[in-house]
Amino acid sequence: MSDVLVIGGGIAGIQASLDMADAGFIVHLVEKEPTIGGHMAQTDKVFPTLDCSSCILTPKMVSVGQHPNIRLYTLSEVAGIEGHAGDFTVEILRHPRYVDESACTGCGACAEACVMKGRIENAFDLGIGKRGAVYIAFPQAVPLKYAIDPDTCLTLSRGKCKKGPPCRLACAADAINFEDTERRLKIHVGAIVVATGYDPFDPTLKPEYGYGKYPEVLTALEVERLCSASGPTLGEIIVNGKKPKKVFFVQCVGSRDHTVGNLYCSRVCCMFTAKQAHMVKDELPDAEVTVTYIDIRAFGKGYEEFYERVQREGIVYRRGVISEVFKKGDRLYVRGEDTFLGETYEEETDMVVLATGLVQREGLDVIKRLGVKTGEDRFFTGPSPLDPVETGIPGVFLAGCCVGPKDIPDTVVQASGAASRAMSVLAATERGDR
Ligand SMILES: Cc1cc2nc3c(=O)[nH]c(=O)nc-3n(C[C@H](O)[C@H](O)[C@H](O)COP(=O)(O)OP(=O)(O)OC[C@H]3O[C@@H](n4cnc5c(N)ncnc54)[C@H](O)[C@@H]3O)c2cc1C
Repeated sequence: MSDVLVIGGGIAGIQASLDMADAGFIVHLVEKEPTIGGHMAQTDKVFPTLDCSSCILTPKMVSVGQHPNIRLYTLSEVAGIEGHAGDFTVEILRHPRYVDESACTGCGACAEACVMKGRIENAFDLGIGKRGAVYIAFPQAVPLKYAIDPDTCLTLSRGKCKKGPPCRLACAADAINFEDTERRLKIHVGAIVVATGYDPFDPTLKPEYGYGKYPEVLTALEVERLCSASGPTLGEIIVNGKKPKKVFFVQCVGSRDHTVGNLYCSRVCCMFTAKQAHMVKDELPDAEVTVTYIDIRAFGKGYEEFYERVQREGIVYRRGVISEVFKKGDRLYVRGEDTFLGETYEEETDMVVLATGLVQREGLDVIKRLGVKTGEDRFFTGPSPLDPVETGIPGVFLAGCCVGPKDIPDTVVQASGAASRAMSVLAATERGDR
């Protein structure tokens, strides 16, 4: 069997899929969201080069969408897997898009016409931007096909949209299909690559930082969307209607923290904080930007140099993370201890950015039922930490942040490693060695 399954269409799944498809294998890529791209699609620039993230990612996404050897299933999940290396039977559950993918031209006339336009929080922009009930997550989405959110579409949730429905009237391709239903299909593959990525740590589990209570307290991913020139504010950093003059970054939120049960280091936060501190200073040169930290872990190629560069740009690093964010009247304050100076401080600020760590996703039961183990950190793991691609189950391999937090270069390397192991299984099966 020379077909292969990839679960998850972030940069890990995209890289693994392209490697195997280019080598001539048929790849079935299953992504639960309406588009591929994962978290990398949400980031503005990438450390340490400050290259535009989508300039690197989008061409790969387009290649996936156009590759003759890749079958892309978005809004889909793997419902069941049976069999063994060389011969797995996989059941794919396709959720309804309510827009006919083969007919939709991606023109956007439906979204323009939707009565809910601009009234629903866009999850891709983490609620900062708004969309309608029929939407694409972002303009470079792959596939560039609209989807209807059944919970907010008036026709689907209430049985009637008072104006028409206007999306159907506006669609020249006649692609709107309110009768669309869930579909199940079975495929046969010889190997599986799991690339389900991570979730950001939920900052409300650290109530002392006031996330959700004070609008001036943001997560790092929200800041990525805020800084993005194609994001909801077109790159303007505005908090509570104002450009901040003073910004504090708080590192290790949800990482290396016994109180939330995450003892591990999330590995990318020191660098994405340095990157975001640079982006804030770049956009707001007069702003006072302070990073509070426990230790700096700048382990990758060019990372230490980047950390030194941002300090030369005027960003202040203060050892000892902030212990509390609070308000006096309508003014926001941080309280912390400078562990170098051995003194506590309380300072007024306009914005606080929480460097939320990376955690394992919920709901990966199908993969766990296959026998893939999780470690104390809840991420997937194999028999040996020295071989992070292996699961110990023949024919099943791991790639990217589903094994633990990592940056994009390490994710890409691991994805190519997993693809290479999977192709060995496929080649052995084709030769009849399995
Ligand atoms: C704020 C922030 C900034 C960052 N900036 C940088 C940076 O500048 N440079 C850098 O090197 N790294 C950066 N990173 C790290 C980077 O995000 C990760 O290295 C990268 O996204 C990992 O890719 P992945 O494919 O493993 O996971 P993800 O990006 O999480 O992708 C996983 C994909 O799998 C899908 N999926 C999940 N579960 C299922 C399922 N059950 N079925 C089907 N599909 C599923 C998801 O929808 C998603 O599309 C940053 C991280 C954060 C939080």
